[in-house]
Amino acid sequence: MGHPATAVVLPDWSAVRDEATRHLQALIRFDTTNPPGNETPAAAYIVETLRAEGITAEVVESAPGRGNAVARLQSANPTAPPILLMGHTDVVSVERDKWTRDPFGGDLVEGFVWGRGAVDMKSQVAAELTALLLLKRSGQDFERDITLVAFADEETGGGDHGAAWMWAHRRDLLDAEYAINEGGGEPIEVNGRRFYLCQAGEKGNAHLRVTARAAPGHASIPLDDTAMLRLGRALVRLHEWQPPAVVTPPMRALLATLAPAFGPEGEATVAAILANPTWDALAALPFDADVRAGLRASVHNTAVPTIVHGGHRLNVIPSEVTLELDGRILPGQDPDDWRAEVQAALGDDVEVTLVSGGPGLAADPASPFFDAIAATIADLDPGAAVAPYLVSGGTDAAHLPGIKVYGFFPPASPARNALYTGLMHGHDERYAVEDLLFGTRFVYELVTRFCGER
Ligand SMILES: [Zn+2]
Repeated sequence: MGHPATAVVLPDWSAVRDEATRHLQALIRFDTTNPPGNETPAAAYIVETLRAEGITAEVVESAPGRGNAVARLQSANPTAPPILLMGHTDVVSVERDKWTRDPFGGDLVEGFVWGRGAVDMKSQVAAELTALLLLKRSGQDFERDITLVAFADEETGGGDHGAAWMWAHRRDLLDAEYAINEGGGEPIEVNGRRFYLCQAGEKGNAHLRVTARAAPGHASIPLDDTAMLRLGRALVRLHEWQPPAVVTPPMRALLATLAPAFGPEGEATVAAILANPTWDALAALPFDADVRAGLRASVHNTAVPTIVHGGHRLNVIPSEVTLELDGRILPGQDPDDWRAEVQAALGDDVEVTLVSGGPGLAADPASPFFDAIAATIADLDPGAAVAPYLVSGGTDAAHLPGIKVYGFFPPASPARNALYTGLMHGHDERYAVEDLLFGTRFVYELVTRFCGER
């Protein structure tokens, strides 16, 4: 890779800023709240925009109204498998009365486009759409086909009408070696140096249920041993338990990349941590609180209590109380083995069962595509480096097991990145036009670098 960009027609980035903004506004104005989704009009907008400039595109509906947009910029003579620019058009619901502006208005105010999906993730979809148009207009030929897919139905988790359905029914359209997706690209500062985090893997899940049982009774006569007491003890044990830190390959690569920012002893500090990873040692690294919290999630299997059920009458001591645990597991961790560890930690007062689970995944942070991401950022933001990491949540990447998926859509400013983290799925979601342009430019330059003719 690493050959220079050879665009025949160089983009006019000021015009591109306006064009990408228009596409983001248009996408926000389609109410794709999921459920029910109703993504087809947004998918049709993407498809018609691309077809108008001669790019092959179609809407693939998994069910009425559940449209996935698929487009392909074809190479005249492909010598390598396609790459995929992916995203989703559905959004989570809004509490309208908590918003300052119409969440489906797409207003442009003081440099920000407002609306549900501005962060997650119509901004990236608009950037990928715009970048594909620019790539077509540039007149370049490419070594690989470039596929754009805007899935329906990401936000409910299963991808039943989106990525999972497409993988099951139209895998022919998703053939790709590498993909760019949401879930990464955030710039962070460590001791004055800037790093962009690239998601190179994500945690799996293990929904666990804790059941406590004991004899029932009438509440007028207290009992020494109850299901409530057993569950209470289990909750305290869960809270006090410190499972071991586990440093997976993307996190090893993260620490190695960040080491120079940790000071003159940075390399030695990281080597010591990798030889014997403990959370105490990791927590002592010079990160701000948000980054440290994310790091903690990325080096542990977790089981967080979220729902409790039990009791039905005020005067009846219940014989059974249950607690649901939202478990997130590292790549390589078996869900049932994690269940057994949680059971051992909580003791045999309670029973821990696995309700559902799926493994995490990791893309290779040493791939040529990762290197192209890093080289593109080095051009766009001289002095900055790209560090892989493992995201604690899940994305559509889990539904595309044959593709090496990297989450990377960088905003230009660490301060605005912190703003976006707070706005995602929240009120007054908005995205800066400057970041939309930076992201569009990143996609364009990355594809040109990685797929352009040698
Ligand atoms: Zn999303």
